[in-house]
Amino acid sequence: MKNNFLLKLAFCTLSLIESATGFTADRLPSPFIILPQPQSIILLKGSGLESGRLRQISLKGEFSCPIMGEILSQLIIGKSSGKGTIGLILDKTITSLTSEEGYILTISDDRVEIIAKSETGLFYGCQSLEQLLEDARDYNKPVPSCKITDYPALSYRAVHFDVKHHLDHMNYYYESIDRLARYKINAVIFEFEDKLSYQRQPLVGAPQSMSIDEMAALTQYARERHIEISPLVQGLGHATFILKHQEYANLRELPWNRWAFCPLNEGTYQVLFDLYRDAIEATPGSKYLHIGGDEIGNIGLCPRCKPMADKDGLMSLNLYWLKRVCEFAKENHRIPIFWDDMPLKYAGVYETTYSDEVTQSQSAKAWEVGIPKLDSLLYDFPKNCVYMRWNYSMARQPGNISALDWYKSRGLNAMIATATNNEGGMLFQADDRDKGSTSSGISTIRSFIQLASEKNIGGVLCTAWDDKSPHMENYWRGFIATAEYGWSPNACTIEDYDKAWLQKEFGLSIPDYKSFNDQLSKGSMLWYEALYRNGSRLDGENSLQNLVQLEHWLTPLDGQEKRQFDYTSKLIELPDLKSPGTWSLKYKDRLDKSLIEVNNYKALSDRLVELYNTSKRNRFYWDLSTALYNLQITTPHILLALKQSDSSDKVQQKAGFENVKKAIKEFQLDWSKVQSVYTKTRFITYPSKYVPDRYFHEASQREDLSWMIQAEELYFGMIAKWLQNQQ
Ligand SMILES: [Zn+2]
Repeated sequence: MKNNFLLKLAFCTLSLIESATGFTADRLPSPFIILPQPQSIILLKGSGLESGRLRQISLKGEFSCPIMGEILSQLIIGKSSGKGTIGLILDKTITSLTSEEGYILTISDDRVEIIAKSETGLFYGCQSLEQLLEDARDYNKPVPSCKITDYPALSYRAVHFDVKHHLDHMNYYYESIDRLARYKINAVIFEFEDKLSYQRQPLVGAPQSMSIDEMAALTQYARERHIEISPLVQGLGHATFILKHQEYANLRELPWNRWAFCPLNEGTYQVLFDLYRDAIEATPGSKYLHIGGDEIGNIGLCPRCKPMADKDGLMSLNLYWLKRVCEFAKENHRIPIFWDDMPLKYAGVYETTYSDEVTQSQSAKAWEVGIPKLDSLLYDFPKNCVYMRWNYSMARQPGNISALDWYKSRGLNAMIATATNNEGGMLFQADDRDKGSTSSGISTIRSFIQLASEKNIGGVLCTAWDDKSPHMENYWRGFIATAEYGWSPNACTIEDYDKAWLQKEFGLSIPDYKSFNDQLSKGSMLWYEALYRNGSRLDGENSLQNLVQLEHWLTPLDGQEKRQFDYTSKLIELPDLKSPGTWSLKYKDRLDKSLIEVNNYKALSDRLVELYNTSKRNRFYWDLSTALYNLQITTPHILLALKQSDSSDKVQQKAGFENVKKAIKEFQLDWSKVQSVYTKTRFITYPSKYVPDRYFHEASQREDLSWMIQAEELYFGMIAKWLQNQQ
């Protein structure tokens, strides 16, 4: 047995240090994985734990049994401490653990012991054990004898639920809490927008929004799983969800602009504080109130504010608002969290925090001038506030580091925010992990958390912006990466992470995951770009807007919302059959890409079906992936059919026309499948009495999911006319 054990270890290519009681290992022997990767693993001698051997739980200390996963929750609570028992021990005096969230898990000889200082630690120990038992069951192997000492690097590990342009079903949020708890995420920042039925300002809540009671129940459910839900209610800017209503027009900074409140109008605070009070009631007992505060433009323009803006600058108005809302938070026992971009813009250093084009010396110069400016604000900066530094790129820009250092040196609390879907696409996300400082995807989450951990910053929020409203499932790889790196910033390469993510989420191994995903996301890119003359449907200027130009960074112009624009002019023209072949030559590049996509289709779609069939958990993800993949393949089909019709050979031409019609029919079918998959977890239409909240976000263009396919709708209209002209 012993020889066998050592042989197994030798195959694992792990770095092992022999100690008196066992071996310190970087990893558990294959196939066992805990996500997030534990801080310390010692492999003990002797036998471990066979699947199905556990019979009961024994509790030592004053606490109730933690909520457990599918396997552990089937055990009874008993008194014995023999074989087949999990001993849960709450020991507040234990000195070998410093973190309240830490635990020591020992598995040996069909017995388990979990010791922790707090109920959170016991809960996390049980989550780790559950993951090991899943592997034991899935791979039919005993859990190795081991001692795991574990605790997180960052104490606040939050993800963002943004429901600006959609709402999921309540049961999906409950399931999400279970999934997050499994990976030791301990907070959610829930950006309610208009999806909470505010009682004090009932006009703001959308017709199908969640009630305060429903949110309070979800908050309680999450708390039992050691997740704290705190609300985010945007205030000064990003306020279209409130100011879209004519009844609040008097609170707008500019009568025709719904972006920003007037910061010097007392009515602003009456409304905001009412919304905050309701948001606090919806999240009882939670610690934070995120007040937003980013990207504030179009203030300092009304007769009330202009004199102050002219005399003391725009920042003074910003700070006036910040002080007022932070005082409110304090009175209501919440710690405010604030996006930090506006003060950095004021100090002239904002660009240094995200641009890859700013050199080290340019950044240093900007900060030389910027620091005194920031220091001059210090007196007015609320001290009870958390300053949330957001950066969705590789995060090592010199200015981003300087900003974290400045907060630290001035005694201000800072946290970081990353993004799970940097490009915001609704299909498969690109993962350019090899592009150094311009990499995207999980690399950016990993790099910023690593930086935060080096700087001793204790909190991370993984944002999940709803601008283009991808299905929430598209966010989960990033959410779980935040769980991994927020707990153990340096333990896993991205390849290690993907392996762990696939095994834990689906019970799958996909050794070529990166190239598989690259193929899918290349097809997504073609779908975004193929019908546009320039850019893609991800670009703001291409988004097909019913109302335009609400961008906060533009100078506001009276009446511009009424401007009409013919968006078909942004789409590629159809073949001119008087000059056959010209169109095909002009669009050769996208036609070549279309051919590659069509040639890949069978292999990739078969693969998705196989993953669906062999997945042990979360099969819905592959269901959704298949629906999205079938949607994105429709565009290459249409382009290639148009190419076929772009021919001087009349037979080819006619066959092309038929194939165009066929491709459009195929699209209709695939689009209805996407809608039916989305319907399983979210509402895809607003009730008829919903007041639209339109601005530059693609997902705000319609009151149903059809904003996703506005390009197709317009293009098919063009095709119908074009086909008519050919007869
Ligand atoms: Zn004003």
